[in-house]
Formats: sequence, structure tokens, C-alpha cells
Amino acid sequence: MRIAMIGTGYVGLVSGACFAEFGLEVVGVDKDESKIRMLEEGRIPIYEPGLDALVDKHKAAGRLSFTTDLAEAIDGADAIFIGVGTPSRRGDGHADLTYVFAAAEEIAAKLKHDTLVVTKSTVPVGTGRRLQKIFKTQRPDLEIDVASNPEFLREGSAIEDFLRPDRVVCGVESDRAREILAQCYRPLNLIETPILFTALETAELIKYATNAFLATKITFINELADLCERVGADVQQVAKGMGLDGRIGRKFLHAGPGYGGSCFPKDTLALLRTGEQYNTHLRIVETVVNVNEGRKRRMVRKITDACGGSVAGKTIAILGVTFKPNTDDMRESPSLVIVPALQAEGAVIRAYDPEGMREAAKLLPDVGWCQDSYHALEGADAAVILTEWNEFRGLDLDRARSLMRQPLIVDLRNIFDPAQVAKAGFAYTSVGRPVAA
Ligand code: NAD
Repeated sequence: MRIAMIGTGYVGLVSGACFAEFGLEVVGVDKDESKIRMLEEGRIPIYEPGLDALVDKHKAAGRLSFTTDLAEAIDGADAIFIGVGTPSRRGDGHADLTYVFAAAEEIAAKLKHDTLVVTKSTVPVGTGRRLQKIFKTQRPDLEIDVASNPEFLREGSAIEDFLRPDRVVCGVESDRAREILAQCYRPLNLIETPILFTALETAELIKYATNAFLATKITFINELADLCERVGADVQQVAKGMGLDGRIGRKFLHAGPGYGGSCFPKDTLALLRTGEQYNTHLRIVETVVNVNEGRKRRMVRKITDACGGSVAGKTIAILGVTFKPNTDDMRESPSLVIVPALQAEGAVIRAYDPEGMREAAKLLPDVGWCQDSYHALEGADAAVILTEWNEFRGLDLDRARSLMRQPLIVDLRNIFDPAQVAKAGFAYTSVGRPVAA
């Protein structure tokens, strides 16, 4: 089996390397020449744990190669996966399908044989149908099947998620498409991964429904955290008590500064727009989107309150700027709202993130970027934990206190034990937990 993967971003590169791990011959193609050059030189354009070793292994074995030439990549491919970006269209929140359709047009122009085109990108209901029309009109001489195979991997644990998924979803319309996708994922039969074959529209919707539901879980527990703060309850224990109920599950019940990242914000919005298009008002998703937006501003107030009502002239050390740990992805990170809001109120920001600073520096001006956590804490009036990187959990609190001007931690990820932080001499504010006595 030989496949082409169009797009070598977070999803395309991980999926390509993992399909190679499944034994397929994979050619990754990207328009971005600098990415392809880096990959050819043995460098990985993104930070994702384990990805460098996996790419190296399969490049060396001759199963994984990269090119900027789409025609070369798709030549002889049994399946062509489209893994390009589908960001929010500026202004209206619809998924911007420009890259998907550009890739499809290019495939139609250059393809020489019958094949299967698979959307791995997250695309709204009806996109597969539109792709079918493009191929039928432009290449009536060829049999081009279209399938939908949405990706559920999470940045930070992407390889494990791809190699050991909870399920694989395949929207197919023909036996040939079904067989080819079954072949691509054959090694997963060994670990009895459910492979769900559905209609195109159903597969496309499963992806949005999943992300919207997860965003709802996060937003639900965030609102509950606010109530916990008022009534003296501990949201961590509330979440645990709820999550142990098998009908609910423990994952995605961590209170924090609101969801961000490259998927939930854009996918919830796009689902709302799809609902509108089909006269279906998705009120729960709409509320989730609004509550999450308000959440980031609420976190600014939380920090300001902890600083005695104003951050003007104060130095705030921000630990973590990416939307979650183990990634360098800054897309829709809560830090992009929180940091500028603190600056607008007169705070001086020092910040440190283990992997995100290169990207963050382009997006967050006037920040003093630091070499490590302790460097960021020097002279700070408050330390704010925005991302739960493991290295922050192990912070030497005595050393931290000795470096700071004021011993104050605002922990928006609940990584510390309130009693321990209080014992180390800090004033401590976290999310949805009582203040230690
Ligand atoms: P990304 O921006 O990291 O990567 C997209 C890549 O596609 C870029 O390198 C870009 O240069 C390339 N590209 C665009 N048009 C091209 C073309 N015509 N030919 C060749 N290359 C082209 O995006 P991503 O985060 O990998 O997301 C890709 C898709 O996967 C999106 O639809 C996203 O919603 C979905 N998804 C993402 C994640 C995630 O965690 N990032 C998880 C699941 C699904």
C-alpha cells in the first residue's frame, strides 16, 4: 500500500509517520518549502513528543519521504489523504475550506489513475459530497472515490493516540473505499480497535459532535468551579466524584482558564454555523462558546483580584503560554487573551514556556521572555500558571519565593497542593478550590 498525505502539519506529519509505522509506504507533501526542507534535513518543524524518532526511523527504512511536488506524491497512490488546515473563516466562523478545495483541484488536475481521496482534515458536513462533484466534473475519465476519516489525535500525545485510538471512523460510499481504509488500519485489528464505517455525512459530523461535547464537558466543570469557589467546595473532588460514574467518565473534567487550541474553538464555531445553515439552533454549543469566551476575561479578573485589585506597575511572571503542555502550538491559547489584557492594565510581563516561546514571541509583543521558570520569577509580584507543564509541578517553592518580590501564586491549572504552597509561605489562588487554612 502506498499513500500520499497532503499537508505535513500537526495532523499530516503525525498521521503520515504513524501510517508508516503501520507498514504503509507514505509520501508527505506540503506547499511550505521550508517545512519540507527541514524534514528532508532530519529536523521536525513542530514539537510533538516522540515524533522525531518515528520520522527518522521510517525515513531510514524508506517508508516515509517528503516532497513539495503533489503530482509526484500522488502518482500511484492507493489513497490520498488530505490533512491541510481548516481554520475559522475570518468574520463568520465557518470552516475555511480554501486549502481543502485547493488541494482537491490540484489532485484533479494531476491525477493519472483511479484512486481514493480521504479527508483527514476536520471538514463540515457536506464537504465530501462537494469533493465528489469536483472530481466527477473535472475527471469524468477516472473513478475517484471520496471518504471521510476524521482524526481524533491530541497534540502532546498524538503518536500514542494515533497508534492506539479509542476508535477509527470511516465515512465511505463504496466497497473499494472501505477495503482500502480497512487495509490502512489493519494493524489496529490486533488491539481490537473498533473501526466504525458510516456514511460520509455521519463521519463528518461525528468529529464535530465529539469536539463540541468535549468542549461542553470542560465548560461545564469550569462553571461548576465558579460555584465551588462561592460555596467552599473543591472542584477537583467534585470532578472526581462525578467522573467515577461510568456514564460520565473522568477525562476532560479539569477546571481551568477555558479551552483553547487549534480545534475546539474553531470546531464549535463551525458546528454552530452548520446548524444555522440547516435551520437547527444548537443552543448548548452556542452557550458553551459564549461561556468559554467570557472565561478568559474572568481569569484576568481573578489575577487582578489576587494582586489586590490592580496589576498596574506590577511584574507578573507567566509560566506556560501554550494552550496545553507538550506542544508548541499557540493557536487560540488562553494566554493570547490573558497576557495582553494584563498588559493593558499596566502589568509588566515576564514569561517562560518550555516549547512555546518561539511561536509566542511572534504573537505576544512586549513580553520579557526568560530562560527558565526561576528566571521568569525574578522580581515578580505574582506567578501565574497558565499551562500545566510537568516541570512547573516540580518547582522548588523555597527558591521561587526567594526570587519573587511578593510570594503570590495564581494557579489557573490547579497543579499545586494548596496546603503545601501555603506552607511554603505563598498566598495562593487556584480554580474552584478552597483557600488552605
Ligand atoms: P497545520 O496548519 O499544522 O498543517 C496544515 C499543513 O497543510 C500546513 O503545513 C500547510 O502548509 C499544508 N497545506 C495547506 N495547503 C496545502 C496544499 N494545497 N498542498 C500541500 N500542503 C498544504 O494544521 P493541523 O493542526 O495539522 O490540522 C489539519 C487538520 O486536521 C485540520 O482540519 C484540523 O482541524 C484537523 N485536526 C487537527 C488536530 C490537531 O490537534 N492539530 C487534531 C485533529 C484534527
